[in-house]
Amino acid sequence: MPYRAAGPTATSFACASCPTEYSEVPGRWRCDCGGPLDLLNVPLPPEDLPKRLSEREWSWLRYREVLPIQAMAAVRLGENCTPMVQLELDDREILVKQEQIASTGSFKDRGAFVLVSHAREIGIASLVEDSSGNAGAAIAAYCARAGIGCDIYVPDATGSAKTRQIETYGADVVRIDGHREDTAAAAMLAAERVWYGSHVWNPFFFHGTKLLAYEIWEQLGFRAPDTLVLPTGNGTLLLGAHIGFSELLAAALISALPKIVGVQAARCCPVVCAFDGTPPRPAGAKTIASGIAVAKPARERQMVRAVRESGGSFVTVEDSD
Ligand SMILES: *Cc1c(COP(=O)(O)O)cnc(C)c1O
Ligand SMILES: [Zn+2]
Repeated sequence: MPYRAAGPTATSFACASCPTEYSEVPGRWRCDCGGPLDLLNVPLPPEDLPKRLSEREWSWLRYREVLPIQAMAAVRLGENCTPMVQLELDDREILVKQEQIASTGSFKDRGAFVLVSHAREIGIASLVEDSSGNAGAAIAAYCARAGIGCDIYVPDATGSAKTRQIETYGADVVRIDGHREDTAAAAMLAAERVWYGSHVWNPFFFHGTKLLAYEIWEQLGFRAPDTLVLPTGNGTLLLGAHIGFSELLAAALISALPKIVGVQAARCCPVVCAFDGTPPRPAGAKTIASGIAVAKPARERQMVRAVRESGGSFVTVEDSD
């Protein structure tokens, strides 16, 4: 079997902010220095991956060699690769990836697929996560499929459509008085007792979102696009795409990284400010782009580094646009 023997003893983490490394122990979700953890020893794609793909079903297990989970243990909801639609924008052709057709309606399914599969592999019975949006829905759905208990912490003011979706999957929604930051703090407190299946802190999530890069690469005839424009808040899409294309580059399956352009709402753009080296703008009116309104992203430094390394940039968009 070409799969890596993943499991409780095979996994190790490296801090993104200091040189410390850890082997996986339940309960450890960040470095003692407070920095986020990344996965070590994830295998690179094999040289002959394009040839191997021609015989495989259209599921995310197409790219099983680069997934840090056993294919046998994967928690599946019939996920498929998403098509790209060609559009013209200001006389330029662009391709738009149709991530909304994922099982729960967003790319967060990619991350949940790997994170929850890993949780099952190491025998986690229940987990806690904080997200009032698509990440909460994706993790709730995959937990239901895996038979893993799931508490999703959300700010009290969360709109009912998302929380209803989360509850429909059978998860318990825990409403916390206050903002997203208070909710995160409450989830972190709960994480002292329950496994923290955080889409922001747990690096397995990013090894699911990276599948976007592999799919685009394959759909373009095993090439990288020249530019990738991605909405970004916590960076699970942006960093996942960066990991995927970096792996393809390291394996010489592409010759350069695509330029990554991170898009933030002008009303909430801390990463743009960090990239520009300007002080964060004071919080003003709430943006309608609630999915990317993250005031203090835990992986901000990594996001800035990834975009810089790709030769890309950040842009802000006004709500009216
Ligand atoms: C999660 C999400 C994003 C951005 O993802 P981050 O990981 O926060 O950068 C963008 N759009 C939608 C609809 C989302 O759900
Ligand atoms: Zn550290």
